[in-house]
Amino acid sequence: MNNYKALNKTTANFSALTPLSLLQRSAKVYPDKDAVIDADLVLSYGELYQRCCQMGDALKRRGINAGDTVAILSPNSYEMLESHYSVPMAGAVINTINIRLDAATLAFILGHGEARVLFYDTAWENVVRAAVADLEVQPLLISIESKAGVSDGLAQQDYESLLMEGDAKASWQRPDDEWDAISLNYTSGTTGNPKGVVYHHRGAFLAAMTNSMVFEMTPETVYLWALPMFHCNGWAYTWAITAVGGTHVCLREVDPMAVYRAIETHGVTHMCGAPVVMNMLLQELGREGLTLSRPTQFALGGAAPPSSVIRKAEEIGFQITHLYGLTETFGPSALCVPQPEWQALPLEQRALKMSRQGVSTHGLDEVVVLDVVNAEPVPADGKTLGEICIRGNTVMKGYLKNPEETANAFSHGWFHTGDLAVMHPDHYVEIRDRAKDVIISGGENISSLEVEEVLYRHPQVSEAAVVAMADEKWGEVPCAFVSLIEDSKAIAPEEIIKFCRELMPHFKAPRKVVFGELPKTATGKIRKNILRDSLSQ
Ligand code: ADP
Repeated sequence: MNNYKALNKTTANFSALTPLSLLQRSAKVYPDKDAVIDADLVLSYGELYQRCCQMGDALKRRGINAGDTVAILSPNSYEMLESHYSVPMAGAVINTINIRLDAATLAFILGHGEARVLFYDTAWENVVRAAVADLEVQPLLISIESKAGVSDGLAQQDYESLLMEGDAKASWQRPDDEWDAISLNYTSGTTGNPKGVVYHHRGAFLAAMTNSMVFEMTPETVYLWALPMFHCNGWAYTWAITAVGGTHVCLREVDPMAVYRAIETHGVTHMCGAPVVMNMLLQELGREGLTLSRPTQFALGGAAPPSSVIRKAEEIGFQITHLYGLTETFGPSALCVPQPEWQALPLEQRALKMSRQGVSTHGLDEVVVLDVVNAEPVPADGKTLGEICIRGNTVMKGYLKNPEETANAFSHGWFHTGDLAVMHPDHYVEIRDRAKDVIISGGENISSLEVEEVLYRHPQVSEAAVVAMADEKWGEVPCAFVSLIEDSKAIAPEEIIKFCRELMPHFKAPRKVVFGELPKTATGKIRKNILRDSLSQ
């Protein structure tokens, strides 16, 4: 028997995987190629790499080290893209924050993540001012001066002047360990406070590689950033586009006509988005009678595409790739791989095949459906319901400072998604229901418990339960079922909605309020399935 184990890892044949090396490579291979286009500004790969190294050095000079968090609150922009490289180049962890959050949630995230620096777009200065007022430890505030202009006295410095503090010739060092954290993404789970999902360098590298394979990207790829980069690091496409040496095109706001103009002007080949973005686009382009001058690949995630969407999308010039994933899996973890013979099927049948969540991406070992009681695989019969469970290298490290939720999520050696599905005989999974208390509205997660907590603060509310209600535009919106305390005066649904809107981001407030007795189990639990069913009748 040969002693293969005697051959060792050396620096010649082993290094920590990190997506930072992908930028370094593209800067060597394509120094003058457009890396990022943000309105009138264009940076080549050479320039992007140099600026990221310089900002990484500037952060280090400011005392930012391994294990520190640098947060950023910005729409899609070149600064946002740069931060995906510069922050880890300093050895730190990038925490991208959803721009739709209110000051209280922002304060929670900055405090929980212990952000030492916050880059923020000045358009969000008011919410930042309110959030940091409550923080015990103040992050260094660095303004990104875009549309809204200069900071009104809040920021210590602006982004470009901080960059200038770095050495223009600085380089970076690979992390010692590929398991080191690279990013922190807060997601609303089933509990009120968001959970901090931590990604590792290894997973980010592998997600970048597999995402480019999944989406068949090449150096000719021109990618339109309609999906927010703050959402799971743009489903890891912030690193994937760079991996192939494609061009990132930034879009600040998702306005359908702006998307159309960007596609036509820059020759966009690929983009991602939630179904709400696709619907808005199809409606507006359909109304205007516009079609694309060449096909654009659209990776749709967050919900299954219905056949009407597939048909309209194809008429206008979009080709749909259906992705499934979660924040905990670096975004995409499954894709519905199209089989060549599907093309010959009538649209309705093809749509049925395409609307399944599919098979695992390359960076994972397996995506399976397990029985919720004994964690054994369910039969591949397209009928037996179980939970989608995932294992492999593009699964998070865990939830920051939350060992209990981390252990729950990883029980039986699998990551539990909380999505209920069947396994088809061809090994494609299909979601049928959701076990977790999450409402997904326009691609944003809303924890039903969080909305309930606000409802319970209303002096006249005795009991409250919030469930998802189907909505044509947003996919789902929160619907509240409320019982009032005895002898309380009648109250209008609008009053409850207004009350919620004052205490939480508007998109999380219920759209509909139904008053009445709440159905309960024998042990007194509210039967949300009955409430859900009542909405679909
Ligand atoms: P992201 O941040 O990428 O939106 P979240 O963690 O917020 O991910 O939401 C993930 C949830 O969205 C999944 O657990 C699932 O319930 C739902 N989801 C994602 N993709 C799909 C899909 N293709 N079809 C149906 N549901 C989906």
